[in-house]
Amino acid sequence: MITDKLKSDLQKFAHSLGYLTVLTGAGISAESGIPTFRGRDGYWTVGSKEYHPQEMATLHMFSQQPEEVWAWYLYRRGVCRQAEPNPGHMAIVDMESLFGDKFILITQNVDGLHLRAGNSLERTYQIHGNVDYMRCFYRACTSDIYSIPETMPAKPKGESLTDTNRKLLACPKCGHLTRPHVLWFDEYYNEEYYHYDSSTKVACRTDLLIIVGTSGITSLPNQVAHLAAQCDSLIIDVNINSNPFSEFALHAGGYFIQQTSGVILPQIVNILEKGEFK
Ligand SMILES: [Zn+2]
Repeated sequence: MITDKLKSDLQKFAHSLGYLTVLTGAGISAESGIPTFRGRDGYWTVGSKEYHPQEMATLHMFSQQPEEVWAWYLYRRGVCRQAEPNPGHMAIVDMESLFGDKFILITQNVDGLHLRAGNSLERTYQIHGNVDYMRCFYRACTSDIYSIPETMPAKPKGESLTDTNRKLLACPKCGHLTRPHVLWFDEYYNEEYYHYDSSTKVACRTDLLIIVGTSGITSLPNQVAHLAAQCDSLIIDVNINSNPFSEFALHAGGYFIQQTSGVILPQIVNILEKGEFK
């Protein structure tokens, strides 16, 4: 719940004209029914062998079986597109409206729900990519990022690529097979595709960092939280479970709210907007 002290800190922030950064992870998507795909939902069978997500989401696997990796992503994309943004997503859209150029959203989620909710592409750093986009596998061809065509059909689990799929996944420039625009386990963050430098810069200037539904296992979110703390940002962690970020937020003099984002974020927006609880 939101204590009087937190309410007062939020009101002070709202009057300070400071910078707001929101960092989101799988928890906010889970509230829209999207699984993390790290467990059974993400297993994929090719012939008689079952692959785990940590094997599928790699450049190594794509280099060996690009069509299987694409089929897996098209299945995942279908699941993501069936889901709808929830009140937590909508509250983050309201935050962008309130703070404009002093707002940045950094998200680990590849489901595209923040953009579908209404956050702008310009102020949304999708640090792990987005399953709705593709790019040429050959960097020498182009580094452009393309939307997967709207006509791409949803793919049932276990189905291989069809000729129609292949045509829609061809690079518009050279005609070869594209790759999903996502960061794989055996790849590194960069600025060009994943806003690496921009995210660390934003962390250093932020006055309020709200961390939502992330457990802190990947490196860039950890860096963002540590940089923000070093720069005296107020840190609020919203998560249904305690996690490394909640301990970190409390240690840094911030707050941990053990609650769903769909409940808490609209309340935070209300305080930022009017200084009152709903
Ligand atoms: Zn190409």
